[in-house]
Order: sequence, then structure tokens, then C-alpha cells
Amino acid sequence: QATVQTAAPAPIDGDAAARIGALVRDLRVSFAAGRTKPVAWRRTQLRGLRDLLVRERPALEEALRSDLGKSPLEAHTTEIGFVLNEIDHTLRHLSSWLRPQRVSVPMALAPAKARTVREPLGTVLVISPWNYPVNLALAPLVGALAAGNAVVVKPSELSPATSALLADLLPRYLDPKAVAVVEGGVAESTALLEQRFDHIFYTGNAQVARIVMAAAVKHLTPVTLELGGKSPAIVEPGVDLAVTARRLVWGKFTNAGQTCVAPDYVLAVGDCADALQRELSAAVTEMFGSDPQASPDYGRIVNERHFDRLTALLDSGTVVSGGRHDREALYIEPTVLGGVTADTPVMAEEIFGPILPVLRVPDLDAAIAFVNERDKPLALYAFTGSEETRRRLTTETSSGGLAFGLPIAHLAVPDLPFGGVGESGMGAYHATASIDTFSHTKPVLEKSLALDTMRLAYAPVTDLKEKI
Ligand code: NAD
Repeated sequence: QATVQTAAPAPIDGDAAARIGALVRDLRVSFAAGRTKPVAWRRTQLRGLRDLLVRERPALEEALRSDLGKSPLEAHTTEIGFVLNEIDHTLRHLSSWLRPQRVSVPMALAPAKARTVREPLGTVLVISPWNYPVNLALAPLVGALAAGNAVVVKPSELSPATSALLADLLPRYLDPKAVAVVEGGVAESTALLEQRFDHIFYTGNAQVARIVMAAAVKHLTPVTLELGGKSPAIVEPGVDLAVTARRLVWGKFTNAGQTCVAPDYVLAVGDCADALQRELSAAVTEMFGSDPQASPDYGRIVNERHFDRLTALLDSGTVVSGGRHDREALYIEPTVLGGVTADTPVMAEEIFGPILPVLRVPDLDAAIAFVNERDKPLALYAFTGSEETRRRLTTETSSGGLAFGLPIAHLAVPDLPFGGVGESGMGAYHATASIDTFSHTKPVLEKSLALDTMRLAYAPVTDLKEKI
């Protein structure tokens, strides 16, 4: 896994734990008083969040540059603009998403009316990671607010500038009686997880997900777990390898590879590996120049621990292009690794960095077997000209999402639910999927007392009733 915090957490002092307890209690009081339920309140919060993103864009860009060396363009497309789109889409469709849904009633119960209504869950906890620290804290928040909940956001301590900025800004733009930010690391998360929440939405690695789920058991709190894994990209011969390579390079090296849905490795089918590797190297130069360290568009590794983990993986194959690194600058060059086999360290864990191994497989059957022998990935990508291949991959593999011809962009289709399956997570969000996640869909049945059509169901059983 990319990040495992193995050290036992230093416990936070009693005062800090008491403050966290009091904060969650206050939010529960706000929720119980009905503060967050009116749709007008929800819209006001979403507009407030919109204002925050628009007005504070320079500060957010600066925090993302400081935490991850993100360029303003990347900060906008993958974080700030992404959440703005989510807000706009939600504001546009919220009324229809919240509208009660009529369902038909069986003859035996007629006349009667049945419908489902959405009710907010209560006070929810959002724990987010460092790699998209704006997007992954605020996009779940959009859903939680739209569904009418009170929310605690716990940003990652590994992106400290963004965490501090969100802690400063959210209470100024949103209702502080219903939305709170708790900063900190393992100790603060642990203290939060001791509290009773009505839903926990966690994004991060699968080890910590197990800790979150175990903590949720105590209060029987439902969880959404947005995790990662090794997302494969299958490339078949006969496709336009130059376009394929550009798209893979874009998907892989955005945020220096620290993207949960980045193509983790390539399975090159048949004889296309050598040509693909050449095109991948050319695409890297085209996008980031011959010295990507000097490119304003290329990010940095989050910290020394990840830098050391990643550079150790460079020996898992032959460096086709890239491979240079600078620990002081937390820079690792976009690297294409050839001659990689399944038993090398780079194939043993989610890479979560700018190293793209290319593995050779003889045919599509071997590629499908390779995918199915491993944990279900968060995403599966394929570049193919064959309708039959698309059909087979859709029906014969399982992954959080599946995309043909373009990695990572399925997240940007607002009405596609986003989430994992198996080891890559459970539950989903974005648009209506967020409303599903952060609401209880309550069935409501209404039957008039005016005409007692239920008499057939009552005791005693008679011959006539049995015949009917
Ligand atoms: P991280 O280290 O920032 O951890 C995530 C959150 O968990 C942080 O807020 C952290 O404080 C908290 N945390 C850490 N240890 C904890 C503990 N013992 N108890 C309670 N809380 C704890 O981020 P990470 O885990 O390194 O994130 C990277 C992983 O997340 C990768 O596997 C990646 O694929 C996955 N990811 C998934 C998505 C998605 O949407 N599915 C998005 C981004 C990242």
C-alpha cells in the first residue's frame, strides 16, 4: 500500500479529546434542531462553498503548490474547478434528486400510496487524504451538505498547507454550527473515530480503511471507503499508439502519479510493447520537455518517505526513459520502466508515483487472467479497436470503474458514480450517488382508514378467505 502509518499514534491530550467530543456533540445538537434539513439551508451552504472556491482560488492554488508542487492549471482542472462543477451540477439538479419517488402498490394493498423520501443521516465524518486535498475533502462535503447533514471534515496532515487553509476558510464561508474542520493526524482521527457518527466517508489506503471500519462497528455506523489499488491499462496492437501514449502519460504523470485512478501499469498485448514504450517516452518529452524538473507543469512527491519508497522501485525493470531524481526537491522524473515481470517489487504494491511499468502479455486472455488474479482495481483502462474486446472486458473483469481510450476522466462525468469494489473500496459518490450515500431512502406507505380492504388478511381464516 502507498501509505501505512504503522507507528502507534501518540494519544492526544485529554483537553483536545474533550474538545473533539464537544464539537461533535454541538453538531449533533444542530442537526437534531433541524438546522441542516431545509433545502434552502443546503443551497446556501453550496453557494457559500462556491464563493470560497472562487474568491480564495489564489490561496488554494498556493497551498496546493506548497503541498504538492501543483501547477495552477492542474490545481484548477483536478481540484478547484472539479469541485465547482460538482457544486453547479448539484445546485442544478438538487430539487429533482430530492423529490419523493412514487412506487406502485400491489393489488392486495390497494387502494394505497407508496413513495420513497430522502432523509439526511445526521452528523457525518469525512476523512480525506493528501493527494487531492481540496477535491477529496470538498467533493464529499458537497454531497453531505446537499443531503442535509452536519459534517466534520478531517483533512490529511500530509498536505499541511491545504489542511490549515481549509480549517481557516470553511467556518468563514459555511455555517459553523453545522460544519467543522478538525486538523491533525492519526491521534486526532482516532479521537474522532471514537465519537458516534451517522456515516463515515473515508478516502485513503486500505490498511487505514480497516481501522476506520473497525471503529465504525462500535456505533454500527455505515462507511464509505474510497480506496486505491493497482489500476491496469491494457493496450492492444493496432491502436494508434501515439494517441494512446499521450493519454497514458497524461493520466499517469498528472500530480506526479499520485492519483488513485492513475494507470498503475501497462499490459501490452502481443508485440506492441517496444513501439508503445517509444511513444510513451516521446509523449513525456512532448508534455514536460527534456528536463521535466524545470517544467512548471510537473508536480513533486509529497514527502521523503514516499520519495524513498518510489526510488527503491526503479530497480524493478529497465529504465526506458526518465529515472532521474532529486531527494532535496522531492523530484522523480516521469519514468517508463520496461522489461518488468509480475514478480518484481513494483508490481507488489500500488505505485502511487511517476513510474509506469510496461509488462508484456501474449494475448487478451492472458491480460484478463492477469487482472482477475489480483485484487479488484479502482479502475481498469483499455485501448483497443475491438468491440469484442470491450465486451469481454466489461463482462469478464471487475473493477471500480472501466474506461476505454481515456484514463482518469470518468471521474469528470458528473452522473457516473465513483467508487471501488472489493479491495478498492465500498460505496460511491458524486451527484446522485452522493445523495444516496449521505441519505437514508425512507419508504413511506399511506393507506386510508376509510375503507377496510384489509379484512381478508385478518384472523380468523375462513374457507372463503383461503380460496381468495
Ligand atoms: P493519508 O496518509 O493522507 O491518509 C488518509 C487519511 O487517513 C488522513 O486524513 C489521515 O490522517 C487518516 N489516517 C491515517 N492513519 C490513520 C489511522 N491510523 N486512523 C485513522 N485515520 C488515519 O492518505 P493515504 O492513505 O496515503 O492516501 C493514499 C491512498 O488513498 C492510496 O491508496 C490511494 O489510491 C487512495 N486514494 C483513493 C482515492 C479514491 O477516491 N478512491 C482518492 C485518493 C487516494
